[in-house]
Amino acid sequence: MEEPASALPLSEAEIERRSMAEEDPNGNEHGAGARSSTVPRWGPQHAGAKELAQLYSPGKRLQEWICVILCVCLVVINFFFLMLHFSMDHFSKLIVAIFAGIVTADFASGLVHWGADTWGSVDIPVIGKAFIRPFREHHIDPTAITRHDFIETNGDNCMFTIIPLAHMTYKFITNSPEAIYEAYAWDCYVFCLGIFVTMTNQIHKWSHTYFGLPHWVTILQDLHIILPRKHHRIHHVAPHETYFCITTGWLNYLLEKIGFWRNSEYVITNLTGHKPRADDMKWAHKME
Ligand SMILES: [Zn+2]
Ligand SMILES: [Zn+2]
Repeated sequence: MEEPASALPLSEAEIERRSMAEEDPNGNEHGAGARSSTVPRWGPQHAGAKELAQLYSPGKRLQEWICVILCVCLVVINFFFLMLHFSMDHFSKLIVAIFAGIVTADFASGLVHWGADTWGSVDIPVIGKAFIRPFREHHIDPTAITRHDFIETNGDNCMFTIIPLAHMTYKFITNSPEAIYEAYAWDCYVFCLGIFVTMTNQIHKWSHTYFGLPHWVTILQDLHIILPRKHHRIHHVAPHETYFCITTGWLNYLLEKIGFWRNSEYVITNLTGHKPRADDMKWAHKME
């Protein structure tokens, strides 16, 4: 089947037809896709979704717990050091650092999400089951994420930030006050990047949650400070080939316009011969 050159622009009706209705909390089976015989049945009853959910192991759970605990401790320690060394001299640089940190986190979320959605497979030893499996599950059962607890939602993102945050703590402990002053704006940038990378999957979970969200979260979504629900829905249109950024989503329109993901896929396919989303398609079409 020929894939369209671009996933955009799609009409509201087309998004509705090709994606799963999420306003129903957990049923997931009444969407337009489920009613059509040509489109796989999405949601927790999908054969692939059931198989993928069962692959969540106790070892994986332990890794997530360790990452969450380490990450939370390091965030608290570094926040304390940043407060301790704060001076008004840094104020203007601080604003730039925070903004740059958020934009970088959004791009990083897109890159990791695109990489895991598009390449590799659940069959790759260790990495496949631990880190690619959640991405496959998310496409065929998008609201499974709303049933994941805090540890399962945030464990992997916490893992990414441990080393940079630990390095920052080490610098605060060993560097001279002058060196800390010099590096302050950079450390604020890394800290803000770390915070937003850590929070990305929680923000992503909120973008799938249509019931019972705290009011302040919906305000942040409506202001597009964090990923809005309507915006992320564009990604969840089969075959899931655009709008990969899931922290704020600020970069999605631009990256789509310049064909960033399409062109990257073109280059990788030419270099390696691998077809984008081959494994994702395999799971989507899994039948009982
Ligand atoms: Zn995806
Ligand atoms: Zn999603």
